[in-house]
Amino acid sequence: MTKRKVGSTECVHAGAGPCEDSSSITTPIVYSAPFTFKSVKELIELIEGSSARTQPEYGRMGNPTVACVERRLAAIEGAEKALLFSSGMTAATTLFLTALESGDHMILMKDCYKRTRDFMTVFMNKFGIRTSVVEPALESIEQAIGPATRMIFLEMPSNPYLHVVDIEKLAKLGKERGVTTVVDSTFATPINLRPLEYGVDLVVHSATKYMGGHNDIIAGVLAGRASLVEPVLESLKNLGGICDPNTAFLLDRGLKTLAVRVAKHNANAQTIAEFLEAHPKVTKVFYPGLKSHPQHDIAKKLMSGFGGVVTFLLDADFEKTARFVDSLKIPMIGPSLGGVESLVEQAVTMGYWDVPREEREALGMYDNLVRLSLGIEDAEDLIADLDQALKKV
Ligand code: PLP
Repeated sequence: MTKRKVGSTECVHAGAGPCEDSSSITTPIVYSAPFTFKSVKELIELIEGSSARTQPEYGRMGNPTVACVERRLAAIEGAEKALLFSSGMTAATTLFLTALESGDHMILMKDCYKRTRDFMTVFMNKFGIRTSVVEPALESIEQAIGPATRMIFLEMPSNPYLHVVDIEKLAKLGKERGVTTVVDSTFATPINLRPLEYGVDLVVHSATKYMGGHNDIIAGVLAGRASLVEPVLESLKNLGGICDPNTAFLLDRGLKTLAVRVAKHNANAQTIAEFLEAHPKVTKVFYPGLKSHPQHDIAKKLMSGFGGVVTFLLDADFEKTARFVDSLKIPMIGPSLGGVESLVEQAVTMGYWDVPREEREALGMYDNLVRLSLGIEDAEDLIADLDQALKKV
């Protein structure tokens, strides 16, 4: 399958546009908890599906602003249907709670967002759902598949080491073995990677990151075939992790500039990864756009760009690494990624500080590991900043 590129025309115009009953160019924000009816007959027709009206009776069941943005998301992702959630975590957890039953088994990657792993290995474990945590590689995934395996969930690229798996082959494997494949494509975005077009069943995003793009919202997305997404919508109505209409509006605004922003994030990350790789104080750089990346060829085959996150190991101990991070003037210390502002974290201090050293090092969380999320600042300014901070190491 050849890569299909999605550009700004699709991001600006795809899907929703203004809501049906509005001539505004932007998506109106509708704040209403109940949605009313002109007659009992109108309500019955909605329940029976015989009316043109799609707006349900209550905001937890659906909202016009959210519905507009979901249509745009589906169009951009190339999905039959997309759902918005209150966070990326809610998108993933609502899916897990819908698709998995007691006795089922799922496969997660060692390199992945810690809370996703914790939810499966701690929370879902309480309900008799087993999780195997494996290396993000096709062979390890295949070996972990057993008769009870229902789902394979992986991030593309993974967090924080930016591993890339051949998801076209993964989708084929999932189909052969009757296992649902899910890609958390947060780090890639639909601009850089189109998992559904490679045959993957479902895509999850933390829209908090590149999709929102401005470090100002928390939201999540699930997209895929309607037959797989609709049962999750039913759970969402019960679990209640819905997206607020104002957040949906901000996300919609972010989506319109997604392609231009991602192009800049990609370019910045490539330039900075190359700069870091050549620097004597840097031991190793992890970035799929580098020839030295172990899955560079797979990334080139599948992706249109390699994303805005660069992870690297400094030739330094904990204190010197902290000094480097503290010395940076442009990237601010903080979790998250994908916004216009660059962010940096000494990985071990962000979510892993309370994990015993042996355990966190088994997950690759070393004292000298730095994750840099490049924003859209000018590359020469970022390089000058990194250069001065590296002098402090
Ligand atoms: N997926 C990935 C890859 C993430 O990095 C994160 C959060 O950092 C999440 C999911 C969770 O998303 P949210 O913070 O929007 O709940």
